[in-house]
Amino acid sequence: MSTFKAPKGTYDLLPPDSARFLAVREAIAAPLRDAGYGYIETPGFEDVQLFARGVGESTDIVSKEMYVFTTKGGDQLALRPESTASVLRAVLESNLHKGGNLPVKVWYSGSQYRYERPQKGRYRHFSQVGAEAIGAEDPLLDAELIILADQAYRSLGLRQHRILLNSLGDRTCRPVYRAALQDFLRGLDLDEETRRRIEINPLRVLDDKREDVQKQLVGAPLLRDYLCEACRAYHEEVRELLTAEGVAFEDDPKLVRGLDYYTRTTFEFVHDGLGSQSAVGGGGRYDGLSEMIGGPALPSVGWALGVDRTVLALEAESVTLDLPATTSVYAVPLGEQARKVLFQMAGELRRSGIATDFAFGGRGLKGAMKSANRSGARLALIAGERDLAEGQVQLKDLESGEQSALALTEVVAEIRRLLG
Ligand code: ATP
Ligand code: MG
Repeated sequence: MSTFKAPKGTYDLLPPDSARFLAVREAIAAPLRDAGYGYIETPGFEDVQLFARGVGESTDIVSKEMYVFTTKGGDQLALRPESTASVLRAVLESNLHKGGNLPVKVWYSGSQYRYERPQKGRYRHFSQVGAEAIGAEDPLLDAELIILADQAYRSLGLRQHRILLNSLGDRTCRPVYRAALQDFLRGLDLDEETRRRIEINPLRVLDDKREDVQKQLVGAPLLRDYLCEACRAYHEEVRELLTAEGVAFEDDPKLVRGLDYYTRTTFEFVHDGLGSQSAVGGGGRYDGLSEMIGGPALPSVGWALGVDRTVLALEAESVTLDLPATTSVYAVPLGEQARKVLFQMAGELRRSGIATDFAFGGRGLKGAMKSANRSGARLALIAGERDLAEGQVQLKDLESGEQSALALTEVVAEIRRLLG
């Protein structure tokens, strides 16, 4: 062990388990790619004001969880706590929205940083795959994204995830509701901090997890009773589209999201096997965000799925992913001459597309064969001085244990044939 440990609230992804992480990322990305979303990558840090304005000063993310620092040059930056604001900033900066090709559909994958109280499923460094469809107000788009997330979870073999759905209204109806909710909340018995929250972000109070708070919230006015006609019709259409696609969802009239910029459609993916960190992903429509960060009106919708918690959800459902072994052939040289010959052969196999690993470090037969088995390879290629003198190598099938001699000149063709 070294003197150092991974920082609090973080953990390392290590082989072989890290393969599951890659597979989860890939499974979430695949349906997006197939649906016309292009890959976008933005920096891991941004001007702190982008998040202050784009996520909202009154959110926990900005007020409590952000890693903020000043550079030697005097810039105030923050490690990204989420990526929607960054993605929109990048799209606006590069004028992707101006090609007459709306919506701009992009997906991303990467690290996010939040200074949280670490617990199982809640880390200070975690990973999301996200998708954003920027510049169109179309219930089909909201439905498409929810369907694609559901498809991703299903393709991984998850069955116990649920979709919670709500509408947060828009500029017309939300303020009316907000005022009604504030009136209601001011009459409750709440602590100092929550009372302050009533004034700056009352919808967030609905999201309070404490039981004594939830008890008092029974009878709180609900947004669905305040939706304007346009929002009601929009929401109804999203619901119908999901139903028509056979994607089950639950109406959750108290579902709000921690971010200020959400409007209309809002949703969360939860998994019941995860205890209190049950949200595996979330998203919604954010029609006002572009203007909040100085851009034109660009109604948009998106989601972010947590990779860490999706992996935990797989564990909770005991789903084992069918991950093909990465190595097909493992070369085991015995002696100096064999090292050179097999090293060259490994290169040749790799160039012809066959995943090949090698027993480095001049190891003995026993140890090298152990590594060969551990690698998951189908075949071992073994050669000693005598084999080479006869112009051959030994090919061992690691599943059946069968071994046979093979002429050096035929190795690549024969292995190709065996691996199909
Ligand atoms: P929570 O209510 O659990 O704090 P959130 O609303 O803050 O979640 P979002 O900002 O919507 O989460 O992020 C989308 C997804 O990213 C979450 O559903 C979750 O899977 C994941 N996520 C968020 N914060 C963390 C974290 N600290 N550690 C691991 N995953 C996280
Ligand atoms: Mg959070």
